[in-house]
Amino acid sequence: MSDCIFCKIANGEIPSRTIHEDDFCRVILDLGPAARGHALVLPKEHYANIYELPEDKTAQAFVVARKMASRMTEKLGCDGFNIVQNNGETAGQTVFHFHIHLIPRYKDDGQKIGWNPGSPSDEELDETARIING
Ligand code: AMP
Ligand code: ZN
Repeated sequence: MSDCIFCKIANGEIPSRTIHEDDFCRVILDLGPAARGHALVLPKEHYANIYELPEDKTAQAFVVARKMASRMTEKLGCDGFNIVQNNGETAGQTVFHFHIHLIPRYKDDGQKIGWNPGSPSDEELDETARIING
């Protein structure tokens, strides 16, 4: 994808603050971090989202995320860690090149990553499970 900024960053055509690189991906610091150390796992090949990502590459991406979570936690001394992955505009995706957010969390960092919990009835939950399983 010649006009994709994350393709250019992942492949080194645009400089970035790289904290890991291998044949498959580059991990860079996010320019608009939710907290200190917020990073992005960027596959070097272009896939718009998780629906396009082949299974073996999905596995590779999450193994990198898991390894980075350990390294970043050790080096940054964070108190917790969010791994976030957005697909589609409705879900908050703004760059349409698959990426995984690695977000170190610190006590009192003032961030809120979450949702407003719903309160579905038993019947609604049963119906949802039925649809997904059907
Ligand atoms: P998303 O909303 O899941 O698509 O996340 C896109 C993320 O990319 C945001 O957290 C942005 O701050 C980040 N971002 C956008 N452009 C750049 C860039 N050139 N370098 C580093 N991070 C970027
Ligand atoms: Zn791309």
